[in-house]
Order: sequence, then structure tokens, then C-alpha cells
Amino acid sequence: MSRVYNFSSGPAMLPTWVLERAQKEMLQYQDSGQSVMEMSHRSPEYLEIQTHCEKSIRELLGVTDDYHVLFVQGGASLQFSMIPLNLAENKVLIINTGEWTKKAYKEHCKLVPTEIIADSEAEAFAYVPKVSVDLVDQTADYLYICQNNTVFGTRYPALPDSGKVPLIADLSSMIFSEPLNINDYGLIFAGAQKNMGPSGVCVVILRKDLLKPSKDKLPTMLNYHTYIENDSLFNTPPTYAIYLCDLVCKWLKEEIGGLAKIKEINENKAALLYDYLDSSDFFSNNINKTDRSLMNVTFVSPNADFDKLFVKEAAEAGLINLAGHRIVGGMRASIYNAMPTEGVQALVDFMKEFEVTHG
Ligand SMILES: *Cc1c(COP(=O)(O)O)cnc(C)c1O
Repeated sequence: MSRVYNFSSGPAMLPTWVLERAQKEMLQYQDSGQSVMEMSHRSPEYLEIQTHCEKSIRELLGVTDDYHVLFVQGGASLQFSMIPLNLAENKVLIINTGEWTKKAYKEHCKLVPTEIIADSEAEAFAYVPKVSVDLVDQTADYLYICQNNTVFGTRYPALPDSGKVPLIADLSSMIFSEPLNINDYGLIFAGAQKNMGPSGVCVVILRKDLLKPSKDKLPTMLNYHTYIENDSLFNTPPTYAIYLCDLVCKWLKEEIGGLAKIKEINENKAALLYDYLDSSDFFSNNINKTDRSLMNVTFVSPNADFDKLFVKEAAEAGLINLAGHRIVGGMRASIYNAMPTEGVQALVDFMKEFEVTHG
């Protein structure tokens, strides 16, 4: 059986290199006589994996000692609550760019006064609002954004200027897709299952000076201090997920050649698809051109019946999970780091054929 091209928004494809390496080490990790899955999280072998993973994340993203790198469970979704619980005291500002900021907003509202300062909902989230610094109340605890909008297929072409207010960004569907400047952010976080590894772990990178000293009343597992003081080992971390994240970092560093290189590959992959969409009389993408996501490409055919037929026939051809998010409809091709260029080319070829047959 051959492997399919999986365009799922997450969990998503992992690099074959990573899966083969994990397969080779499945029964026996190095000389340990056991699988990583079976290891004590306190064993020297496992501790080395987790330490190495953190070091690799720091290297890839250029994270300095001014920041903590934490491994947390509960998915990216738990951060919608953990961030305000730990960092908000006065008020929080949010830019609403779709499903994931709506969910973050809903959780924030339970905990702290929260204000949406810009919103693209009236135009079906087809663009990212421009926010100038005069919209940002400088007494706010932070400005919260989702930098790549997985559901609608937009991303920030440039970060908003928040002045002195720290910027907090959900990078779940774009972490490791291009280099970033960590000093632009107070905190970033990403669930692993889109671009970093399997589900089960969320990486939180937090600037040390944002931490409040006295948060003793917080439940232990919701308190960043617990993770910081215990190297994310207060309780059992998702050991196998962290091991796979470490392998993904290795792949990025050794096989790809770093984030500048993967960015170039990602831009070329996305261009293949967008160029075809722009030239097609059958398929189209309605996202503001400067705000188009490199990771999640949304598109539609002339009607919902063709959409359904397309998703079905594509799956039969080994191009799976192309249905759009249930609230958007249409199609969505998620083309994260692990999607090879050949997969995107196969999709474009299939779309051309479909257009000829039905157009
Ligand atoms: C998938 C996704 C989430 C939710 O991640 P979970 O790990 O399932 O909680 C949050 N934000 C963005 C941008 C996502 O793409």
C-alpha cells in the first residue's frame, strides 16, 4: 500500500524521515533495550530527549534566555485559559480573525475584561485587519492574535504594532514554517499536531518578565510556575509526542537546512496552488492576496455539489481530507512543512483535470 497525500488541517502529515526513524527506534531506543513509550520520564535517556528537544526548538526559533520554553498538555485550546489566568490583571485586547480567536475570546471573557479591537467577521474573515498602535490601549496586559488562521486561510503579512503592550500569538498552524523574531512577542504557543509533531503536546514560549510572582491561588497544573520550576516534569509529560517533536526538529535542521530554507519551500508550494487558482475559471480563492496563508489554502468550485464531488474523487485518487472546515464549506488544502512539493503538484494536476471534465 502506498502512502496518501493527506491535506488534513491537523493532525497532519509527518515527514517520512521522522516516521522511519521512529519506526527504527520503536522496539529499542539506542542502547536502552526499550521503546521511548515505555521509558520512565525520570530516566536519563528520556531526560536527554526532552532537553534536546527544548534546545532544538530554541535553536530553530532563535529563542534567547529571556524566554522559558514549556511543554504543556491540554492542546492549544487550554492556552486560551492559561494565558489570561497567568498573565492578565487589567484587561486584554484581541484581534478577531476567525474561529480560533473567537474561542480564545470566549475563554478570556470568563476571566478578565476583554475587548475586540479589530474584526474581519463582516467580510467572512477574508482578510486580516490592519491595526495601528493608536488602537492599542497601552494599559492592556497584552494584545492577542492568531497569526495563521487555519480555518479561513489567512495570515498576518506583518505583525501589528502594539507599542509597549506585549504581543501574544497562537502559532499552532504555522510554527516552524518560517523564521521568526522571538523578541517581537511576549508569548507564543502552538499545539504540535499541525507542524511540529503528533497531538498531545503544546509548546509555550514565554518571556520571563511577563510572569507574575504571586499566582499561588491557581490550580497547580494551570500555573506556568509549575512548569518552569519543574522543567515541564511536575507530572508525566507526553513523552512520545515530545520525542517525535525532537525528531521533527532534527529533520528541519539536518535534512531541510533550517527555517529560512523551509520558508522558501513553503512559498514555492503555496505559489503552485495559488497561481493555478488565480488562473482557473472553475476554482477560486477569495482571500485578500496579501493575507493569504502559506499553510492552509481555501478554495471553492462553482457550487456545493461540485465541491462534494471534488473532495470524493480526490480522495479516491489518494489526495485525502480536502473538505473545508465544517463552518466554511468548500475545500481546504493544508500544506504544512511535511507535505512534499510533489503532493501539491499532484493536487494541482488533479484540479486541472477536474476543471477540464466539469468546467
Ligand atoms: C488547531 C488549532 C488550535 C487548537 O488546537 P488543539 O491542540 O486541538 O487545542 C488552536 N489554534 C489554532 C490556530 C489551530 O489551528
